[in-house]
Amino acid sequence: MREIIIIGSGPAGFTAAIYAARAGLSPLLLASSVQAGGELMNTTEVENFPGFPDGIQGPELMMKLQEQAEKFGTEVILDDVTSVDFTGEVKKVETGYSGTFEARSVIFATGSAYRKLGLPDEERLSGRGVSWCATCDGFFFKTKTIAVVGGGDSAMEEATFLTRFADKVYVVHRKDTLRASKIMQERAFANEKIEFVWNSEVVGISGENAVEGLTLKSTTDGSTSELPVQGLFVAIGNDPRVHLVHGQLDLTVDGTIAVAGRSSKTNLEGVFAAGDVVDPQYRQAVTAAASGTVAALDAEHFLAALDQVEDGETARVIADVVDELVAAD
Ligand SMILES: Cc1cc2nc3c(=O)[nH]c(=O)nc-3n(C[C@H](O)[C@H](O)[C@H](O)COP(=O)(O)OP(=O)(O)OC[C@H]3O[C@@H](n4cnc5c(N)ncnc54)[C@H](O)[C@@H]3O)c2cc1C
Repeated sequence: MREIIIIGSGPAGFTAAIYAARAGLSPLLLASSVQAGGELMNTTEVENFPGFPDGIQGPELMMKLQEQAEKFGTEVILDDVTSVDFTGEVKKVETGYSGTFEARSVIFATGSAYRKLGLPDEERLSGRGVSWCATCDGFFFKTKTIAVVGGGDSAMEEATFLTRFADKVYVVHRKDTLRASKIMQERAFANEKIEFVWNSEVVGISGENAVEGLTLKSTTDGSTSELPVQGLFVAIGNDPRVHLVHGQLDLTVDGTIAVAGRSSKTNLEGVFAAGDVVDPQYRQAVTAAASGTVAALDAEHFLAALDQVEDGETARVIADVVDELVAAD
């Protein structure tokens, strides 16, 4: 049986692996077969990860994290976890092709997925004008004209934040009222750089190598129109990847895994969670990495405490046997 299994190969999973491996726990990291490396594999330049003053390409950063984790003894398997049983003392993790693994502890770091519009050119132009994260990419849109899709709090927050860089921000919304809280709406309405495009949905994104415009379709009469923009921020929600642990781990109202205070401890002993799957708010590579550190340290302390209990039990059993032998003499 393993000491620790880490599920997920984003910044949280690999950072947890670096710490666990350096603590001598020989972690097994299950990295997924098609999405290994996590969300940063979908982006180009990462300019806000500390330590890279000239920026670094997302996939290169993830390769470096993997290299660092493997250097200290992490075993990485490119396979998907298909089911888990975390309820007993022995944690069971079943994979698509590599069989079932068992461990005394688990770190769950499966991240979260930004909801997509589902348009054919969305993926192709991801990192080339299409983004899901204003904090990450806003800086690249200085003096540009851009659009934000969505009508909730996060869309208003992204739009307002983006006016720091862009000259003009359109908010495209399929209805004529917003879901966002009153205060967020008021802030957006008061911002002169923001213009609302009501009753409209984005049905096309144009541009060869970068976003050049959007095709909008009216939700009232079905007519279409073109909106020239150089950027599109999709802010229609985010889904933490928790389907594997439904019914086992407690969730928050945001749908993230519930952890105790600032720790990574879930409701089940020996099961820790880290990264975007526990974070409804910050969702940055560096916060995910920090959260991975917390999880590895929590797991290390848990295993050390378990060892002490087991050592104590072994000592008690030996003492009982010695007592019995002495009595038999
Ligand atoms: C386009 C884009 C650009 C971004 N740019 C930046 C940026 O510039 N700077 C920044 O700080 N942040 C950026 N972010 C946010 C950042 O990528 C995330 O906050 C960060 O990756 C979260 O790390 P994580 O380890 O929690 O999850 P993820 O990176 O999402 O990794 C989760 C991992 O779990 C794996 N997994 C899920 N289910 C299973 C399963 N069943 N079996 C095995 N593995 C599984 C996934 O395949 C993935 O490898 C960006 C995000 C996007 C989408």
